[in-house]
Amino acid sequence: MTSPTFKLLMALLLTGINSRKSDSDDTPGNTSFHRLSIDGQFTSHDVEQAATDFGNQYHLLPSTVLHPASVADIAATVTYVFQLGLSSRVTIAARGHGHSLQGQAQAPGGIVVLMESLGKWKTMQTHHGPDPYVDAPGGELWINVLKETLRYGLAPKSWTDYLHLTIGGTLSNAGISGQAFKQGPQISNVHQLEVITGKGEVVNCSSTQNEELFHSVLGGLGQFGIITQARIALETAPKMVKWIRVLYTNFTSFTEDQEMLISSEKTFDYIEGFVIINRTGILNNWRSSFNPKNPVQASHFKSVGKTLFCLEMTKNFDPENHEKMMHEVEGLLSQLRYVPSTLFQSEVSYLEFLDRVHVSEAKLRLKGLWEIPHPWLNLLVPRTGIHAFANEIFGKILTDGSNGPILLYPLNKSKWDNRTSVVIPDEGVFYLVAFLWSAPLSSGQDSLEKTLTQNERILEFCKKANIQIKQYLPYYRTEEDWKSHFGPRWEEFKQKKQEYDPLAILAPGQRIFQKEV
Ligand code: FAD
Repeated sequence: MTSPTFKLLMALLLTGINSRKSDSDDTPGNTSFHRLSIDGQFTSHDVEQAATDFGNQYHLLPSTVLHPASVADIAATVTYVFQLGLSSRVTIAARGHGHSLQGQAQAPGGIVVLMESLGKWKTMQTHHGPDPYVDAPGGELWINVLKETLRYGLAPKSWTDYLHLTIGGTLSNAGISGQAFKQGPQISNVHQLEVITGKGEVVNCSSTQNEELFHSVLGGLGQFGIITQARIALETAPKMVKWIRVLYTNFTSFTEDQEMLISSEKTFDYIEGFVIINRTGILNNWRSSFNPKNPVQASHFKSVGKTLFCLEMTKNFDPENHEKMMHEVEGLLSQLRYVPSTLFQSEVSYLEFLDRVHVSEAKLRLKGLWEIPHPWLNLLVPRTGIHAFANEIFGKILTDGSNGPILLYPLNKSKWDNRTSVVIPDEGVFYLVAFLWSAPLSSGQDSLEKTLTQNERILEFCKKANIQIKQYLPYYRTEEDWKSHFGPRWEEFKQKKQEYDPLAILAPGQRIFQKEV
C-alpha cells in the first residue's frame, strides 16, 4: 500500500512519536542540548525546510537543525547523542542538498545536519602530480568541485547527470552517469574519506587504512558514518565535448549497440540512452539542454504514437584535435544501426555538457514544475532480463506515454568494487533503468497515486518474471524487503551497523534500522 493517505498517516505517526519527550528529557529541543559548545549553531526556524526533499512526498519535521562550522561540531553532536544512549529517541540525519526522493535525509523529531554549511568553513584543496586529486568537504556540491578543479585544468572522472548534488549524498548511494561504464561509479573514484561514526569518532579511512569503514560508507546509505571530507580522483579536464544523439526503433539493435560500445576499448567517453514513448519534442526533454546543429531535421522527426530509443554519446576533445576526434567518431558511428536520418550532433564546452540538467531545472522552476512530487523509480536490471523487462514495461504497462524521462543504459560490473556497500545485480553487464517521473496533477493520468501504482506494477512484474533487479536509491518499508535487497550481504551489513552505529542514530530516513528506546 503506497497511497498518499497512508504516507500522511505514517508521517503523522512518526512525527508524533518523535516529538514526544523521552524519559531523560533529552530531546534536541531541550535546552541542555543547545548548551553544547559548538562553533556553528542549532536553529529551529528552518525545521520545515529540513523536512522537504526533491521527492516531495515525505515531510517529517526534525526538532532542530545543526549548521556546523567545523567537523568538531558534528562530532560533538553525534557524541552527545551517543552518550544519551537508548534513553533518548534522538536520531541524526546528514542532509546534502536534500535531493532524496522519500525522506532519506530527514530525521523525524531528531537533528538534521546541514552538510553544505560545512563547505563555507572548509575549503577545497586541489593536488597536481601524476595522480591528481581534490580534497573536498562532504557537503560540497559537485558543480563547485568541477568549477574549482577546472581552474587547474583538472576534473573528477565520474559524474552524475545533475551536479547540484553533494559529495556525501552521491557517495552514500553510488553516483552513476554515462561515464560509469568506463570509469566506474563515483564510489570507485574516491581515495580517502574522513568520516564521523555513529559513536562520534572522527576516522580517516581508505582502502589501506580502516578499510572496512571506508568500503562500508561507500554506497552505505549514510548508515555507518557522516562523510565530512572526500579525496576524489581527478584527470586532465577535456575542453570540449562532441555530443551526439541517434534514434532506434528496434530495442534489440539499440541495446546490442550500447553493449558493443561499453565493451570496446576504443569507444565514446559517455554512453547513455532514453526510452521515448509517444512524445513530442523528443530531443529536448527536461533533463537536457541539447541543441542539435540541425534543429529543423530534428523537429521533423515524427515520434507521436511510437516507442523510440535514443542513444546518447559524447566524445571529449581539445579544439586543436577536432579533425582526429571527428575521424574517430565517424568510425564509431559507422558500426551502429540507428535510423540513418536521425543523427543529431552538437559541440559544447565540458562544463556546459556536465551541467546540462541545471539549464532545464531553471526553466522548470520558473513554471513551478520543480517543486512537485517526484515518484521516481530507479532500477538496476541484469542484462539477461532486459528484453523481457522492456517487452512488458514499454510494450504493455507504459503504452500511453510517460510523465518524465526514462533512462536506460548498460554498466560494466567489473568497474564496481564489491567491497563497497552498494548492491548490484550479479551479472557482468546490468542496466540502469530510471523512471524519472513528475506528478504535477492531483488527479488524472499524471497523479501521484496513479504513478505510484504504476511503479508497483513494474516491481511486481519483475518479481513474477523472476528478473533479479536491484533498486538504486532503494526505498523499502519492511525489514523483509531490506533483507531481500541485500540478499546474502544482509548479515554483514547488520554487523557493520552494530560496529559503527550501534544505537542506530544515523540516517533514520532510510528506514533500514530503528533506534530501539
Ligand atoms: P541527500 O538527499 O541530502 O542525502 C541522501 C542520503 O545520504 C541521506 O540518507 C543522507 O542522510 C545521506 N547523506 C547526505 N550527506 C551525507 C554525508 N555527508 N555523509 C553521509 N551521509 C550523507 N544519482 C545518480 O547516481 N546519478 C544521477 O545522474 C542522478 N541524478 C539526479 C538528478 C536529480 C534532479 C536528482 C534530484 C537526483 C539525482 N540523483 C542521481 C540521485 C542523487 O544521487 C540522490 O538524490 C542523492 O541522495 C544525492 O542527493 P543529496 O546530495 O541532496 O543528498
